[in-house]
Amino acid sequence: MEPFFQALVHPLFTTQSTFLLLRVCALPKLNFTCRTLPSSLTLSACAAFDQLVLSAAMTTLRLDKGSLPGEALSVLALPLRHGGFGLRSMAATAPAAFLGSLAAAARHLPPTWQLDTIPLVEEISRALLHCKLPGLRLPPATSFLACAARRPPRYLQHSITAAIEDRLARSVGGISIALSSHLLSLRQAGASGWLVATPSRPELMLCDDDFRLAARLRLRLPPSSSVSATHCLCGDELLPDHFMACKRLKRRTVTSRHAALLQLLVAFLREAGLQPIPEARTEDGERPDLRLSLDGASFLLDLSVTHPTTPSALRTNRSSRPLGAAKQREYEKMHKYAALAAVERSTVIPLVLESTGALGEGLRQFIRRISSCYRDGEFAGASPAVVERFLVSAIAITLQRGNAAILREGASLLEHPRSSRSPHQHQLYFRSREPYFSSYTHPRFSTRSAFGWNDGGGGASGGSSSRQ
Ligand SMILES: [Zn+2]
Repeated sequence: MEPFFQALVHPLFTTQSTFLLLRVCALPKLNFTCRTLPSSLTLSACAAFDQLVLSAAMTTLRLDKGSLPGEALSVLALPLRHGGFGLRSMAATAPAAFLGSLAAAARHLPPTWQLDTIPLVEEISRALLHCKLPGLRLPPATSFLACAARRPPRYLQHSITAAIEDRLARSVGGISIALSSHLLSLRQAGASGWLVATPSRPELMLCDDDFRLAARLRLRLPPSSSVSATHCLCGDELLPDHFMACKRLKRRTVTSRHAALLQLLVAFLREAGLQPIPEARTEDGERPDLRLSLDGASFLLDLSVTHPTTPSALRTNRSSRPLGAAKQREYEKMHKYAALAAVERSTVIPLVLESTGALGEGLRQFIRRISSCYRDGEFAGASPAVVERFLVSAIAITLQRGNAAILREGASLLEHPRSSRSPHQHQLYFRSREPYFSSYTHPRFSTRSAFGWNDGGGGASGGSSSRQ
């Protein structure tokens, strides 16, 4: 399988494409072998395969396996739903694959006594040894096949694998409060959007450097391995994610990240045929970002990003609850604009993201709502679920571009402490400023089909067909 992995890390592939292919195409390659052979026979092949996967990940992310902390390696192996990268260990999960396929085929196998020449019970027993996990009740090896034939278990491979991964997640989360809070935020809806996005159009593409910095942030690694300082210029301890909350960057790339997210949202709403009215942003932030009329109601929208693992959030235990940081920010925004909303007979909708990409409840509901009233533009006629998936992915990608710019500026400030750029120069830290929507020219392949929308299906696409 080496040639496949060598091709994956070919320099012509972007980091984003390599990682997607690694998770979605490479990992399932060994599954059939693991399902059809006892794990005692596949173990060494699985271990070699795991090394190939890890080596490809290290190459494309420009990381050095030898200098990575153990918890970062575990986060790579954790599934996305636990805040990891989904590079599951085949060696750890091969017994689950073997037991799962045996259980599914049990009804069609001859009775155990007729299988005397095959050491099946021994192999089942060996596989079961790896599956002694909390919450998992499996029959003993001697009656495994009979039980499975009587009542075929559904999704046994999935259930055992999930239990193995839950155990790994618990052990990683137990390392520190900062890491468990970080992983908790990464488990929320939206936080893996940039890892699952198909890079089929500019809004969904991350350049290599942005992808690598986003990966380092997810792994809780500092933006650069060459930084040796222990404290930031702002005086705070230089924790791996410090720049996400650094006071020195507040009016700089942090503001630019907000502007990029707002630009995406405004472009999307306009393309959808809605008419958002951007507010002139004041220095004291007394006005919300946007006004929007929807179905006869008036809304005040305010977009913001909050970091879930700031030292104060960790001290106050705010981040030990799902979306704790986002909920706090939503509450603050509701309170801040309450008087204005009462005067204008509007409803405040705080659109809050955690810097991991986790979507606050207000933003999640807003995305769902506007995805179902898309009246015009490229996605007109697509199902609300397709539109929602696109917008969630585009927001996730834009956020990670902004995060990468913040990390770049933070690292640069440490290297050149006297640098003081004017606000618009902070755009220099953004590696990609792709056009959004109307100015975007389609490539020859269908991008909408990447979102499950059938291009040949009808004429509800307005003017979009002319842009194919
Ligand atoms: Zn700082």
